[in-house]
Amino acid sequence: MRDISHIIEKYTMVGNENILKEPKRRNYNLLKIFDELNAKYFGGTICAGITWKRMRLYRDLCVEAVACVDTRVIYINEVLDDIRFPVWYLKATIHHEMLHIYLGRQIDVDGNEQADHCNRFCSLESQYPDYEKVKAFFASKRYYYIFECWRKYRLFKRQQKVALSKQKQLDKVAKSS
Ligand SMILES: [Zn+2]
Repeated sequence: MRDISHIIEKYTMVGNENILKEPKRRNYNLLKIFDELNAKYFGGTICAGITWKRMRLYRDLCVEAVACVDTRVIYINEVLDDIRFPVWYLKATIHHEMLHIYLGRQIDVDGNEQADHCNRFCSLESQYPDYEKVKAFFASKRYYYIFECWRKYRLFKRQQKVALSKQKQLDKVAKSS
């Protein structure tokens, strides 16, 4: 989970011109990427499930993915399947979540659970080849723009649904009177 308030401060909101179009997906095979990364960076040692997930979209927070350490399942936000998202970014996100599974819960000397990204996590993540490129994309306008297109499209679909059901009710009343 990453806070993107820095992006919102810097850039204006997505205009309404794009909200009527359904975002196009690539339909990536997540397991294939998972297996690739597992062999390349973890010696094939990670045992976990991975799946796309329709996640709630917030205006000021982008949740890309979640790794459930206890059940060993990685959920990737379907927004990352958008054709405008680079494949290398999706791969880096999966690698990030695999690191969570790999390291498990991080407990400090007092027995308290540490915040998500401990020093060891950050050091391992920074060794990933695309690390700098990923950070730059994450801080870009384009990154936020894609999420915002999805959020607005869903909002539009919801409003459309409400309007349709209202119209149906009105038609019913008109018919019966
Ligand atoms: Zn994380």
